[in-house]
Amino acid sequence: MASNAPVLILLGPPGAGKGTQARMLEEDFGLVQLSTGDMLRAAVAAGTEAGRMAKAVMEAGQLVSDDIVLAILKDRMSQPDVAKGIILDGFPRTDGQAAALDELLSANGQKVTAAISLEVDDEAMIGRVSGRYTCACGEGYHDQFKQPAKAGTCDKCGGTSFKRRADDNAETVRERLKAYHAQTAPLIAYYEGKGVLQKIDAMGAIADIRTALGQIVQGVAA
Ligand code: ADP
Ligand code: ZN
Repeated sequence: MASNAPVLILLGPPGAGKGTQARMLEEDFGLVQLSTGDMLRAAVAAGTEAGRMAKAVMEAGQLVSDDIVLAILKDRMSQPDVAKGIILDGFPRTDGQAAALDELLSANGQKVTAAISLEVDDEAMIGRVSGRYTCACGEGYHDQFKQPAKAGTCDKCGGTSFKRRADDNAETVRERLKAYHAQTAPLIAYYEGKGVLQKIDAMGAIADIRTALGQIVQGVAA
């Protein structure tokens, strides 16, 4: 990665909109979204050793071990397309991952440019996550909040193949929220201490959050 390339982190509980906003930042700023959740789901689908180890943990709504996540992330970060800068979505999620990221970046003369916390309330997240589904192209939808303009057809790619995640049910979301508060929320203070934290109200409309995020990114990374 170019040493002045932005490294942005999106923090927030499951359902906060990290993936949706990360894809918009890719479009708006030419950055690359790195979602450890997507990488892990790809590993599960491909049946790799990491995927076989991660599957049950993910279905229970718990966190996959730092070792597995870091191996997958490092591999991805060694690819050339990350040169323009990255948006980390769903990583880091533990103290250990945050420390490992700092180390990885400092080896390249870099540090985290900004950690942006998407502030939402938990109860609403259960409804958001339980109704969501995704097109094969990655575009996200929701039974109540964001249906495609033409039922059954993706607005973005015209595809008709949608899927729902195995862990997007109310019971597992509660577990994921617990894991978030116990293991990931402390990172908000960690990045605040480093002077790179920004908070944003993420309970509003997707387009408004996109605008607010865009202003932050413009300020730190343009
Ligand atoms: P969400 O943010 O909506 O929970 P993700 O796709 O980011 O969804 O993560 C789904 C699951 O993948 C998590 O519940 C966890 O089991 C696993 N996972 C993703 N990223 C990490 C990570 N950085 N560390 C540990 N586990 C992870
Ligand atoms: Zn699509």
